[in-house]
Amino acid sequence: MTMAAEIFEPKPTLVDPFGRHVSYLRVSVTDRCDFRCVYCMSEHMTFLPKRDLLSLEELDRLCSAFVGKGVKRLRITGGEPLVRKNILWLFRALSRHIESGALDELTLTTNGSQLVKYAEQLAACGVRRINVSLDTLNPDRFKAITRWGDFSTVTDGLAAAEKAGLAVKINAVALKGVNEEEIEDLVRFAHGRGADLTLIETMPLGDIDGDRTDQYLPLSIVRARLMDRFTLEDIPYRTGGPARYVRVKETGGRLGFITPMTHNFCESCNRVRLTCTGTLYMCLGQDDAADLRAPLRASTDDSALLAAIDGAIARKPKGHDFIIDRRTKKPAVGRHMSVTGG
Ligand code: SAM
Ligand code: SF4
Repeated sequence: MTMAAEIFEPKPTLVDPFGRHVSYLRVSVTDRCDFRCVYCMSEHMTFLPKRDLLSLEELDRLCSAFVGKGVKRLRITGGEPLVRKNILWLFRALSRHIESGALDELTLTTNGSQLVKYAEQLAACGVRRINVSLDTLNPDRFKAITRWGDFSTVTDGLAAAEKAGLAVKINAVALKGVNEEEIEDLVRFAHGRGADLTLIETMPLGDIDGDRTDQYLPLSIVRARLMDRFTLEDIPYRTGGPARYVRVKETGGRLGFITPMTHNFCESCNRVRLTCTGTLYMCLGQDDAADLRAPLRASTDDSALLAAIDGAIARKPKGHDFIIDRRTKKPAVGRHMSVTGG
């Protein structure tokens, strides 16, 4: 092979400057949501004008470019992905990569509010596993946390997902003084229905109405408390994400911990995140981003887009600098989780 061919040939896989193989893409298909969770959004959010959003066809083209570059896992998220109009079109389109074997997994993170409507059809598109966010089992507390959500709609959604044969993982954000007394119940609830449970620390993303230092509960404390109740056995199970898992001996179920604040998991980061406007964030906790919408729209040919993706991966930072600043109370990163997608 000549030197020139080496320089211009598109790289078959995405490897960042720290040798990490980028094989996982999260795509936020909308910044909108039918809930207003207190740790995620303020009550009165200003959302992007619809004209700024990539069309579903453009999202398909972008995701497919990443699949062509060796991405094996695609997670559709938001905002609430299932409130995006005609979202099943995107799932159907992307399912061709599952059928061809190019993609190992097509999945989503959802608040569960639309699962009664969509669970069966998602399963038909090759979705096998979904993450459903549920922070409490108390309907009044659920209303207080989500502001606009309805508990029974979500539990009906969980049942619909299970009926459709989807493996469910429940995500719960640990919130000081809100659900900290309920974590044991959440473990029993999830494991009782055959679901994994993953606990998440609140991350300082975007302005919210309250004070984040009030919400932050280190999972090291939660874990120590759970050990009074349960036997937690470390297991090597991984889902491609940052969670570290244990098996709870008494329930037989898996419990994951996502600890961006107390334990830095960046060294094994394999992911990048795409927003609904085509901005690629190479790290959830950093502001640097690459615009992929311009090269996408500049030509129907993908070469500029593929070069822009390579350029972005070459800038993936070593890690995040999350800190909840107790003096200024300002978030470390200005954008909300609903923009970059959880
Ligand atoms: N609407 C969907 C949902 O709630 O599952 C998908 C998007 S949501 C942004 C993805 C995940 O991020 C949810 O599990 C949510 O609890 C979590 N999340 C949102 N804001 C967060 C924050 N500031 N810190 C930690 N987790 C957060
Ligand atoms: Fe919506 Fe999910 Fe954010 Fe809650 S966490 S407001 S459901 S995007």
